[in-house]
Amino acid sequence: MSDIKNEFAYSWSRADAFYQCPRRFYWQHYGSWNGWEDDAPANARLAYRLKHIQSLAMLIGEIFHAVVGRALRERPERPSSVPAAALHDSAERIFYEQLAASRAKSWRTNPKYNANLFEDYYSGGLTARESQEGLVALHKCIDGFAADGFGRRAFGVERARLKMIDDPANFDQKRALIEGVIVYAPPDLVVEGKDGTSLHIVDWKTGRHRDASVVQLAVYGLVVSELRGVPISRLSAHLVYVGHGQHDECAQLSSGIEEAKRKIDAFVHDVQERLTDVERNVAGDIERFPMTTSVFKCRSCKFRELCGRTGDPPLAPDEDLAS
Ligand code: SF4
Repeated sequence: MSDIKNEFAYSWSRADAFYQCPRRFYWQHYGSWNGWEDDAPANARLAYRLKHIQSLAMLIGEIFHAVVGRALRERPERPSSVPAAALHDSAERIFYEQLAASRAKSWRTNPKYNANLFEDYYSGGLTARESQEGLVALHKCIDGFAADGFGRRAFGVERARLKMIDDPANFDQKRALIEGVIVYAPPDLVVEGKDGTSLHIVDWKTGRHRDASVVQLAVYGLVVSELRGVPISRLSAHLVYVGHGQHDECAQLSSGIEEAKRKIDAFVHDVQERLTDVERNVAGDIERFPMTTSVFKCRSCKFRELCGRTGDPPLAPDEDLAS
């Protein structure tokens, strides 16, 4: 068995999963632990495989963030225009590769790096029309990024003014210790403001517009403030809906900080009281994480096979149901 530690942490999506359905949270963060090992219990191996399931909408978001993130990390020092053609080419190539991998069930050998689409696994397979619509949506997101002010700015300023770029391999940049709790809130980009002292936190969204609370954005602020040593008052947050040309801004993150801290405290209390070993972050009793009674949620849950809740028709989850 692996010696890697299962770290207790807060994130907005973890808390959302926990309060939506404690059992879903259990499978995602405890029941699937060690499931990558050949000698792990059968349920852990299945949970590990299922936790990597993603819908077409989620795959679009993942590919968009992968190609934009890589282009930003590799961009030259000097300002340039958005390399839209290269982004389109990379995104389309990965899109077709992942669709083929899902159809070929390549996830059976490596679920972490080969897509397993919810639509293929639970719904009888993506139709050609759905695939084509997905590709169109992906290209639209890249067009939206290239047209957006922050998209242009991400390439149009000196590289040194980009203070954080999300990097899948850099965990130290994704989390910070906030009052003794590890908090995950990795922004897609943090770019210096025109005044040279403020920072803009930018998150690209590939799905439909949702009202984000100032509390949710304040969690980003807490992490970026800690990592960059910048007061909250110097931070603003921006959600850019690249597929729909919408842009939400919050310049007053301070107003959500106290509530954000209260939510973090509540999550820590509510989860840890169900653990069998808080120190080692072990959830040894699955019954302390009950299944939701709102069975409609199970229609779009990737763990429905494990829970035996496959009776109702499946409904592919949207891009935000990542964990
Ligand atoms: S299938 Fe339903 S009960 Fe099971 S984890 Fe998913 S939402 Fe929870």
